[in-house]
Amino acid sequence: MASVTLEALTDESVERALVVVAHPDDADFWAGGTLARWSAAGIAVTYLILTDGDAGGFDPATPREDIPRIRRSEQKAAARILGVHDVRFLGLAEGTIVQGAELRRQIVRVIRLVRPRRLLTWSPQWNWSRFRTSCHVDHRATGEVTLTAAYPDAGNAFAHPDLIDSESLDPWEVEEIWMLNARQPNHYVDVTETFNSKIEALRAHRSQTGHRYRLADEMRERLEPNSAAAGLAVGRPSPAAQALGRALRRRRCHHDRRRVAHPTLPSSTPLWTARVR
Ligand SMILES: [Zn+2]
Repeated sequence: MASVTLEALTDESVERALVVVAHPDDADFWAGGTLARWSAAGIAVTYLILTDGDAGGFDPATPREDIPRIRRSEQKAAARILGVHDVRFLGLAEGTIVQGAELRRQIVRVIRLVRPRRLLTWSPQWNWSRFRTSCHVDHRATGEVTLTAAYPDAGNAFAHPDLIDSESLDPWEVEEIWMLNARQPNHYVDVTETFNSKIEALRAHRSQTGHRYRLADEMRERLEPNSAAAGLAVGRPSPAAQALGRALRRRRCHHDRRRVAHPTLPSSTPLWTARVR
């Protein structure tokens, strides 16, 4: 595949970022080090968690009806460790996320409320190279519905007009989209300095990680290939990098909402296809 480098927004230029994921712990497992960096750079990060992860956990002694409450509490604690103080839940049941108008509307509503310049969500494509650890059906569905909510819905004044009429939520166009578990990452974030915060956040998800005594080693092993691909492995004692797909939707134009969006990627390139650097 051709080598393409996309211009990225600097963290310092981003006021707000929205993270839309399927389950409590997704953001922290898959981008915790990156999100800690964003917070440290002054970005106000919001999590939108679509389900309560009610099928999660490892301990049969935990009453199943308690899981949603436990997982929400753990998610808030983990987010705080990474500097994220706005955590919202849609409360769907795990395994039920599907692309649909009502779910898209709810995500559009949060996009228009938060008005993020940067959006992070799951890739809507299977990644066969890490199928067992990443390809939950909710992840793929979250990517699909969230990308659709971001474009075209959120920025279209004629989509979901009730949000304008009832809540005065004007259209908002997200400028930059990052994707977890992209098949072909085109962006790596050096998380060497925030790796320990990520592990601390993962430890806060006790119902999911309380039995994983090698958690830090597991995460370091998972990040090692990224570190090598990002060129961090040379001369660093414990380098760590997170790999993400990144696509720029359009130039910023928040003052004139009637303008038509102009994708900066070639028109033949699907939004979710990450390009190899
Ligand atoms: Zn998940």
